[in-house]
Amino acid sequence: MLFHVPGSLDGLLSLLATCFTQPTFQTFRALLLGQVSQTGSRTVCGMLVGARLSGVWEHSRAHRFFSQARWSPDELGLRIAVLIIERRTDPETPLTVAIDDTLLQRWGRRGWGGFYHHDATANSDRSAVAWGNNWLVVGIVVRIAILDRSQSRVKVIRGDMARALIIVDFQNDFTPGGALPVPDGDQISERINELAASGEFDLVVATRDWHPPEHGSFATSGGRWPQHCVAGSDGAQLHSSLDQRRVDVVIDKGQDPDTEGYSGFEGTGLERLLRDRGIDEVAICGLATDYCVKNTAIDALRAGFRVCVDERGIRGVDVHPGDCKRAIGEMREAGAVIG
Ligand SMILES: [Zn+2]
Repeated sequence: MLFHVPGSLDGLLSLLATCFTQPTFQTFRALLLGQVSQTGSRTVCGMLVGARLSGVWEHSRAHRFFSQARWSPDELGLRIAVLIIERRTDPETPLTVAIDDTLLQRWGRRGWGGFYHHDATANSDRSAVAWGNNWLVVGIVVRIAILDRSQSRVKVIRGDMARALIIVDFQNDFTPGGALPVPDGDQISERINELAASGEFDLVVATRDWHPPEHGSFATSGGRWPQHCVAGSDGAQLHSSLDQRRVDVVIDKGQDPDTEGYSGFEGTGLERLLRDRGIDEVAICGLATDYCVKNTAIDALRAGFRVCVDERGIRGVDVHPGDCKRAIGEMREAGAVIG
């Protein structure tokens, strides 16, 4: 056994075992344990971390659980509903049902449901993130005496850590047509906007490379890069596909002519800002994987934040083939969750 499930939880889970094949049930137990035992990111990779299986299990095993669903969400949901009604409700009292309406309020270019996501009903062998069905989450409200204590209630309502999204350098000069374009750098806009609109973040920060005209990183000053992101220029503006209504704070970096200024934390007030807002955890997306994303992620870890790098929301330069892969390895090595 790779992970320990408390007996009381295990007893409950065993009642659901017949909804799954044996290996799938193992994955389900692990993910569920990860979900309840950690306070960080409520993502598949967060669940693996919670179950202490990050790096032990192949990451894709958890994703396949959702994407290739060899189990029926309907059957599982009904089984759980029956259990709750049998064990936790009083036959004399009417049921209270709660509906999670965030799906109906989602924002996106195709309205609600207009996102790529894991499709639990796909039953396809392709590891599928696809346009798929969406689930309206319906809950049965029950009273659990222990949670009525005010101390517990705070935890239930505000249980998650405060989280920030950091959008690194999603600027004109780093996208195709700009002075220092990252290949396909503009392709991440949909993902970035989706993250920013997800409601999962207490703070959304966008960093901008914002250099003086004689910045030391420019070839004209003996540096390695063509002139880019000169403060105030068109190239330095945030890319027009970014929905700036979702951005709370813009942080300019790279203003000191003598430093590379790759990291959003270098010479800026970013750390102070995150601390002031009580942020514990940051999710990072943007450009470019092998420079500013990497350095920002590593500095965030050094400053003591939990860090998740959103793999779909980043693109890299790969000046030397393999740079991006190595950068992801370095971030993971430093303690970032890549998901
Ligand atoms: Zn720069």
